[in-house]
Amino acid sequence: MLELDLSIEAAKPILRAQVALPIPFSEPYDYEVTGESLDKIQVGMRVRVPFRSQTTIGIVVGISKGSRFRGIRPIDRVLDQEPIVRPFDLELARWIAEFYFCSWGEAIDQVLPHFLFSREMALEDLLERYSSPRDSQQPVISKSPHSLTEEQEIAFNRILEKMKSHPDKPVLLHGITGSGKTEIYLRLIEENLRDGKTSICLFPEIALSEQIKHGFIERFADQLEIFHSRLTGVEQLKAWLRVKSGQAKVVLGPRSALFAPLENLGLIIMDEEQEFTYKQDQVPRYHAREAAKKLAELSKCVFLMGTATPTLETRWACEQGTAERLVLSKRVVDRKLPEVEIVDLAEEFKRKKRPVIFSDRLKEEIAKNLELKQGVLIFLNRRGFSTFVHCLKCGTILSCKHCQVSLTFHMETGKLICHYCNYQSAVVLNCPSCNAPNLKYGGMGTEKTESELGKAFPRAKIARVDSDVARKRGKVDQILAEFKAGKIDIVVGTQMIAKGFDFPQVTLVGVVLADISLSLPDFRSSEKTFQLLTQVAGRAGRGEVPGRVIVQSYLAHHHVLKAAQTQDYELFYNSERDTRKELLYPPFAHLINIIFKSKSEKSLYDFSRELKAALEAVRTGDEFKIMGPSPLPLYKLKGFFRWHLMLKGESVESMNRDIRQALGKVKKPSSIQLLVDVDPVSVL
Ligand code: ADP
Ligand code: ZN
Repeated sequence: MLELDLSIEAAKPILRAQVALPIPFSEPYDYEVTGESLDKIQVGMRVRVPFRSQTTIGIVVGISKGSRFRGIRPIDRVLDQEPIVRPFDLELARWIAEFYFCSWGEAIDQVLPHFLFSREMALEDLLERYSSPRDSQQPVISKSPHSLTEEQEIAFNRILEKMKSHPDKPVLLHGITGSGKTEIYLRLIEENLRDGKTSICLFPEIALSEQIKHGFIERFADQLEIFHSRLTGVEQLKAWLRVKSGQAKVVLGPRSALFAPLENLGLIIMDEEQEFTYKQDQVPRYHAREAAKKLAELSKCVFLMGTATPTLETRWACEQGTAERLVLSKRVVDRKLPEVEIVDLAEEFKRKKRPVIFSDRLKEEIAKNLELKQGVLIFLNRRGFSTFVHCLKCGTILSCKHCQVSLTFHMETGKLICHYCNYQSAVVLNCPSCNAPNLKYGGMGTEKTESELGKAFPRAKIARVDSDVARKRGKVDQILAEFKAGKIDIVVGTQMIAKGFDFPQVTLVGVVLADISLSLPDFRSSEKTFQLLTQVAGRAGRGEVPGRVIVQSYLAHHHVLKAAQTQDYELFYNSERDTRKELLYPPFAHLINIIFKSKSEKSLYDFSRELKAALEAVRTGDEFKIMGPSPLPLYKLKGFFRWHLMLKGESVESMNRDIRQALGKVKKPSSIQLLVDVDPVSVL
């Protein structure tokens, strides 16, 4: 049969298609185009192709006339009538693949709903089967209740001007919390709709509150599509189809909303630009900010980032002139920023000769608020009751079977839990190593904070908001509603309460221990702490009464706390920038983390050394530094032992090229998994 086909085709030029498959470390594969595929095939279509002993779905990324190679297999079938991936999406995916070190197919798998890679149905049939048109297309009605402040007006006009002309560089809207950034986003999107253009607005998932969604729904009605990461495959497909068919013109969502298939894109907004959740922690390990920059370039639209605390990368880009910075320095309704007081727990310890959870100052202020019936937020970025359990006799710390991590005791479930792999064990009474009945519970999380607060203020109504509570459906919303109604006095929580939590009656915020994020072994720990404290402080004093913030710390003299106290971003930025410059950390260099994982420790070290040697051999001159190999701070995680090499250099492209070349020269044992993380946001 095959022989016969070949002889018929022999007179025609032979067509080959390059097909990207979602498979790690692979270039597109060549397939032969035969039979009825010849009339149909176009770049950007899905095809079913044989791969190894199965068939799989891939995307055509190129078509060429070519002489026959031996052993090239033909395409089974072309699945689409029309290209499903647009040329510039292919281009965006290729850029992601090259920059973030994955295969082109893996990156395309990211920009398309996953569903399309698992079903062979054509787009037309999918539309027929899954599209759910909405009743009406209401025209845009500007329901904006306010006129803009002077600062808002200036920023708005400048961005509008860029939208109407040739946008060149990204814009940073650098505005303190409550300065009215969201209002500016809404108006820009409206302007865009009037011009027949579409918009994407990204929020970090955790900050995408009901309040924000509500504001968008009110303004854009059924022209809006909201994406979120909990959509099922079919829901995701339906949302994608509504956008693809042009019914939705505004997309709101987390990182993945960037890939909504909008036509005529005019604006990409990224709120809370500094959020690390914009970086995906699985392949492709892309950062939505960089991908958005690329998308804006490809679709010639404006990319607008908004935040009170820009990353060093973005602030530095503004200083260099590769991005434009617009400042909102005042709160809309002239409300003062809260007063921040730092309490030195080391002093308190000296005085009392014992560690305390709540300093006298914090207790005093909480009591005042309870008296006046004003809301209190208590922040601690660690959940659970005790964060470690150790044996007083032999010193053993109870740790996870699969990770080199201490187990956290959770009072509510009565279990010891690993926060990295969720391994759970019942509470034990005797030390597993020496059998002495002398286990002591130490460290504290939100559960313990809640219980200690209850002891100190027995008549206060206290609730807790963290991801353990959030697992119970509707529970968080219920707590927030009760808090709003004044039925709860104090809310204790993790970073879930630091973001997008807007309660006018909150006039006091207490940070139980600022040191947790400050002392992480991570070059971004200062930045993370400053951002978190600014955000937490922003929760206080959103109503009539000015807010107060009390930050407790054993490192009270740390320069980051000083900057957070005066809420002086520029002070923080100037000192942090100089430190980074001196140590050659981002934004003054890029890092690439090459991680080696294996279930057995054997050969991990040898292979990482071998790869380092190969890298040194292909590297030209001094283009990057190689640090390591060394074990990662969390040496054992989820049953895997982990070593890494860290590359530090100016050009990601040239480092990636050398990594690819070096990988071609070594033989990786199959027991070792290799993972390349470009611009990592955390190196634990
Ligand atoms: P940000 O996003 O900068 O933190 P928001 O956009 O949430 O600030 O604005 C804070 C509050 O001020 C919101 O309740 C918003 O509705 C209101 N607001 C925004 N702009 C104005 C304005 N020009 N006049 C009056 N209120 C405004
Ligand atoms: Zn674990």
